[in-house]
Amino acid sequence: MAALRTVDDPELHKDLVTLNMVKNVVIEGSTVGVTVELTTPACPLRGKIESDVRAALMQVPGVAHIELQITAQVRSMFGGKPGKEPIPGIRNTIAVASGKGGVGKSTVAVNIAASLMLEGARVGLLDADIYGPSIPIMLGTNEAPVPTADNRLNPIHAHNMTLMSVGFINRQDDKPIIWRGPMVAGLLTQFLRQVAWGELDYLVIDLPPGTGDAQLTLTQALPLSGSVIVTQPAQVALSDAQKGINMFKQLDVPILGIIENMSYYPNPATGEKVYIFGKGGGQRAATRYGVPLLGEIPLDPEMSESGDAGVPLVIKNAASPLSVAFRDVSRQMAARLSVESYNNAIPLGVPIILDPNGGQGGPGNDPAQGHRPLRLG
Ligand code: ADP
Repeated sequence: MAALRTVDDPELHKDLVTLNMVKNVVIEGSTVGVTVELTTPACPLRGKIESDVRAALMQVPGVAHIELQITAQVRSMFGGKPGKEPIPGIRNTIAVASGKGGVGKSTVAVNIAASLMLEGARVGLLDADIYGPSIPIMLGTNEAPVPTADNRLNPIHAHNMTLMSVGFINRQDDKPIIWRGPMVAGLLTQFLRQVAWGELDYLVIDLPPGTGDAQLTLTQALPLSGSVIVTQPAQVALSDAQKGINMFKQLDVPILGIIENMSYYPNPATGEKVYIFGKGGGQRAATRYGVPLLGEIPLDPEMSESGDAGVPLVIKNAASPLSVAFRDVSRQMAARLSVESYNNAIPLGVPIILDPNGGQGGPGNDPAQGHRPLRLG
């Protein structure tokens, strides 16, 4: 334990013992078995923590072998103004917002949700884009939700994720929905509280585009752990991003960071990044507003094809530059959330066991399945 006290979590800047991340130390002869419990299965610094732990333990006289198991326990966190009850079973809610439509907000929401799922987290996706729900098409399902015995709604399951969208309810696709802001807020609150979501580590919420009164009203009604703002490199999009930042600051919702979408085109022949809309705008905006830039997502012609095919690109083609970028952005985001939630940590339930050698990804904490090994990307 003294050796492990010398290993710091690089994000939380405290040692693993103080952070209560060390579990089950077993010593047999010259072999030491240790379990380290991370705060998210999508930890970007997992490799570093692992090698730091091994190095520290090898310093102890008499230690020849180390059996290190890495698990993850996502902690719960709800920011915002007081009086907002967290939703039972849901540890974190992450709102995905944009200053205007068409910047790729839904694409980002779907692919970060799928990325977190692939890391082994239990993930839900709520399509709150009431005026233009796109989750049913992007996830390739249009099932009608059925009521539960206790008069709630069963969510829809697809691609190992738990889903709800107004598109599943409003089945007359040709009729636009005309609702006023407070009605929308009421519906979304119902979606959060009256859907049998089950146990989720992360619920990703795809907000309607814009940062006007309607968005403010409904965002105010939601208990949010954090928010991300999707933007594009062009100047006009960046100034819209500022409005999003102001909105979440006003609501006391932690801003996990900015995601710049369509940042560059990776030349397939050379791999060179071509910055069609200008370079570094997202980083400049992030610096100016004092929030992190979580990453830059490239343009990918396969994207719209994949959107129509009903399979998120991170699942369909894990090797594409866009998928690699999304996986990285999702880890950065999960790490930010862990840091934000550190002071409000409420550990719950069974940890997720991460198996570096195999496993299938997907929900990891189903008690019926025991500790299913999960693959890290
Ligand atoms: P929003 O939710 O902001 O309105 P969408 O996610 O619906 O935007 O994306 C708008 C369009 O842009 C869609 O056709 C989508 O497939 C496409 N798109 C989004 N991101 C990318 C990307 N990185 N590369 C290529 N096309 C993209």
